[in-house]
Amino acid sequence: MLTLYNTLSRRKEEFIPIDPDEVKMYSCGPTVYNYQHIGNLRTFFFEDILLRVLKYNKYNVKYVMNITDVGHLVSDSDEGEDKMEISAKLQGKTVWELAEYYTSVFKRDIKLMNLFPPDIYSKATDYIKEQIDLIKCLESKGYTYLTSDGVYYDTSKFPDYGKLAKLDIKGLQEGARIEFSEEKKNITDFALWKFSPKDEQRQMEWDSPWGKGFPGWHIECSAMSKSLLGNHFDIHCGGIDHIPIHHSNEIAQSEACNGEKFVNYWIHGEFLDMGNEKMSKSTGNFITLQILIDKGYSPMDYRYFLLMAHYKKKLKFSFEAMGSAKNGYKNLAGKILNLKRQITQANFKTSDLDNKYIKKFSESVNDDLNMPEAMAVLWDMLKDENMSPESKLGSAYEFDKILGLGLGKIEEEKNNSEVPEDIQILVNQRSEAKRNKDFKLADEIRNKVKQKGFEILDIKDGVEIKKI
Ligand SMILES: [Zn+2]
Repeated sequence: MLTLYNTLSRRKEEFIPIDPDEVKMYSCGPTVYNYQHIGNLRTFFFEDILLRVLKYNKYNVKYVMNITDVGHLVSDSDEGEDKMEISAKLQGKTVWELAEYYTSVFKRDIKLMNLFPPDIYSKATDYIKEQIDLIKCLESKGYTYLTSDGVYYDTSKFPDYGKLAKLDIKGLQEGARIEFSEEKKNITDFALWKFSPKDEQRQMEWDSPWGKGFPGWHIECSAMSKSLLGNHFDIHCGGIDHIPIHHSNEIAQSEACNGEKFVNYWIHGEFLDMGNEKMSKSTGNFITLQILIDKGYSPMDYRYFLLMAHYKKKLKFSFEAMGSAKNGYKNLAGKILNLKRQITQANFKTSDLDNKYIKKFSESVNDDLNMPEAMAVLWDMLKDENMSPESKLGSAYEFDKILGLGLGKIEEEKNNSEVPEDIQILVNQRSEAKRNKDFKLADEIRNKVKQKGFEILDIKDGVEIKKI
């Protein structure tokens, strides 16, 4: 049984899909006006684990992620300029060039981190008509009003507004900041369509029944999920920062227009706490995956680091912690290599699984994606002296379907790969002889290898080969 923590109910619930043949999942993707930092990647990583766990539970999943390439304003309260337009101006590029560039870097990061890409990446600018249609639907049902700068959603008309975030609307009204536009009826109201400024030509703008302009940020997710997954679907995920505004607004838009429940399970990932390494996109001072790589950490080191914390817990980043993760991953890779050395390929089947550990591992991942516990099961298994190397390696590969650490691709480092093939074959024969308790043969092979200029050293869980 798979359980997931649902933000809507504030408790762990058994996962039951609407259609058992296809789980439908949507996540809020990047705004492509800049690089994604490693905190953003933590959110995409947790969504990857969720996707892998669903697949591990034999569900077919249709997974959609949006790419925000228009309409995301500097402030979440619909004030200020469009992030894309500002960044394009600063870099002397068109917004379209900017979107294409940062989208390609994002997709590269996804690949390097070994994250499964969604089935569909949907770009906001490809769904302008659907967004206008949705605003028309809300208008016809009386949820909108016009101001001098756009079409707004009247949140007081939607009685359940703020149910996801358990917002204290009255408290928010009273604590309203000065920048709260006078034309807005309620502080939680938000823009569905913004008019282009009269004195300035925007690079991205479209005609609409209300005037030339561009969609507000929240409407794209309601419109694209409706069009690609339907009115009512299983899972919507994103970072916790989306709960009070963006996701609350998506629910208000979708449920008011469609007249039915929007999403069954809202799953949110916690932040990466940067501690002293303060990150801010606005000052350009933030850490990207490429910066980690330049400093000598592999994307798998970062993946290993992320696996050590539960997705609902804050995780503190530091280069010291990254160093420990790098060591952890190196140790793990060493263990996998040792297992590989002990196994003759011909005898190895990936179906060599250990049921006891597989069961423990499944229970951990199915308990609201408890990856730290799943990692502990992996290490316990690798240390278990009562298991055959075949069964250990087979089980590790099975776990890696979710861990995604590329265990099947780990290879000898260069100095080890200098071991000639005939020596490696002898080493494998010796390991097999040892397992068959034929120590006489094992010693003979060791001597033969020595005569050829290599020494076999027995270490705790395998062998090391050294040139003499
Ligand atoms: Zn969204």
